[in-house]
Amino acid sequence: MGSRAAESRTHDGVSSSLRGNYGKAIAVVGAQWGDEGKGKIIDSLAHTTDFVVRFQGGANAGHTINNFFGRFALHLLPSGVFYPNVINVLGPGVALNIRALLKEHQMLLDRGVPTPQLFVSDKAQVVLPHHILLDAYQEEGVAGRAFGSTKQGISPFYSAKYAKKGIRVGVLFDEKLLREEVEQSLHIPNILFSEVYNKPTLNAEEIVQDLLEQREMLRPFVTDTTQLLLSGIDAGKTILLEGQLGTLRDPDHGIYPYSTSSSTLAGFATVGAGIPPHAIQRIIAVVKAYSSKVGDGPFVAGITDPEEAQKLRLMGGDKGEFGATTGRPRDVGYFDAVATRYGVRVQGATEIALTNLDVLGYLKQIPICVGYRIDGKVTSEFPSTHLLYSAEPVFETVEGWQSGKEELQSIREFSKLPPEARAYVKRIEELCGVPVTMVSVGPGRDDIIFR
Ligand code: GDP
Repeated sequence: MGSRAAESRTHDGVSSSLRGNYGKAIAVVGAQWGDEGKGKIIDSLAHTTDFVVRFQGGANAGHTINNFFGRFALHLLPSGVFYPNVINVLGPGVALNIRALLKEHQMLLDRGVPTPQLFVSDKAQVVLPHHILLDAYQEEGVAGRAFGSTKQGISPFYSAKYAKKGIRVGVLFDEKLLREEVEQSLHIPNILFSEVYNKPTLNAEEIVQDLLEQREMLRPFVTDTTQLLLSGIDAGKTILLEGQLGTLRDPDHGIYPYSTSSSTLAGFATVGAGIPPHAIQRIIAVVKAYSSKVGDGPFVAGITDPEEAQKLRLMGGDKGEFGATTGRPRDVGYFDAVATRYGVRVQGATEIALTNLDVLGYLKQIPICVGYRIDGKVTSEFPSTHLLYSAEPVFETVEGWQSGKEELQSIREFSKLPPEARAYVKRIEELCGVPVTMVSVGPGRDDIIFR
C-alpha cells in the first residue's frame, strides 16, 4: 500500500490531494441516543463506496441490517461486509474484542455471505478479560447509580487505553513485549479484584497464551490501516465512516455520565480512523423519526404512559424497540427536536437520513417535542445533564397520515408519500435546520427514498 501512496505523488512531491484527484470521506453518524438505523443506511449506501470504516466503540452496540442475505445484528464488523468489493476496516480507535470479531465473521460465512474484505489496524487495542470483569464488578458496585453498561468491557478498556495500559494488536506479534505489557496491564486490576471486589485475581500467563492463540486467527486481517486509507484517499477513493451510538452518548457533548467511553462524533472519525479532517466532505446524521434509548439516564421526551410506550415500542424498528446486543426493551418517546437539533449540529451534519418513518402511521396525531421547560423557562437549546433531570417536554402536535407500515414501505418517491408524512419530514428538517436527503421507510436495503 505504501507504494500506491508513493505512486499518487508527483515528482515534485505534491500529493494528489493538491491536484484535485482527492478521495472523499462521508461520515454516517448518529444524532440521537444510538439505534437510529446507521447500519441500515450504510448497507443502503455501501455499494457506492470503496471503504467502510469503524472508528470507535466495540462490541457494545448492534447495527441491524436486513438485506438479500437475511437479518443481521453486526456488533464489530463494519456494515460494508455484504459487498465483496468494499474494503472494511476497523481503525485504531476501535475497542477490539478479537473473539467477538472472529465469531461474527464466521457467522457471516455460515449464512452464505461472500467472504468480505476485512482489515484490522495494528494500532487498534485489544479488549482484555480484566476489562470485561472490571465492567461487571464496577456496575455491581455503584448500587442505585448504574450507567447502563453493556458489560463488554468498553469503559475499563478506554480507561486503560488512556492510562497507557492498553495492548495494541501489533504487540501480539512480539511475544516478549506482549508478556511484559499483559503483566503491566494486570497490575492495578488484580489489586482491585482482590482488595476491593473480593474476587479472584487473573493470571498473566494464561492471558498471554490465550492472546497468542487469538493472534493466529487474527493474523490474516492485521495491517497498517492508516497507510491503507491514506493511500486510498490519495488514489481518489471513497470512504464511509461508520459511527456507533449517537451524539447524546458522546463523552464530552452527550449526556455524561450516561455516555459511552469513546467519541461518537464525526469530528472524531478522522482520529479514530486515521484520515485527514479535510477529507470528510459530507456528514450524514442518521435520525430516527421518534426517540428511543437503551440504558439509563434522563430522557425528557420519553413516553411515561406504559401502554402508550409499549405501542410505539412494538411498532418501532424491524422487530420492535429491543436492544440488538442486550435484548433490553428500549425506552421510547416522540421526536425530540431539542435533542436532535443539538445532535445534528454537534455532528456538523450536512444532511439528515431520517429513518423509521413508516413506524408512525398508527398515530392519528403526532406529538413533537419542541422545547424543554427548565425552572419555568422554555428553551429549545439542549442543556447539560444536570439540567435535564428537571426538564419537562413542551410538545406541538401535527397530523398523522394513518397508513399501515406496508403502505409506506413500498414508496420510493418523496412526492408519493401521504401529504401529512411529507409535512412531518419537512417539519423535522425545519426544526433541525439541515436538509433531509434520505427518508428510510422500512428496514430493508431498498426501503429508502432519496430526495
Ligand atoms: P443502528 O445501531 O443505528 O444501526 O440502529 P439499530 O440497528 O440498533 O436500530 C435500528 C432499528 O430500526 C433496527 O431494528 C432496524 O432494522 C430498524 N430500521 C432502520 N430503518 C428503518 C425504517 O426505516 N423502518 C423500520 N420499520 N425499521 C427501520
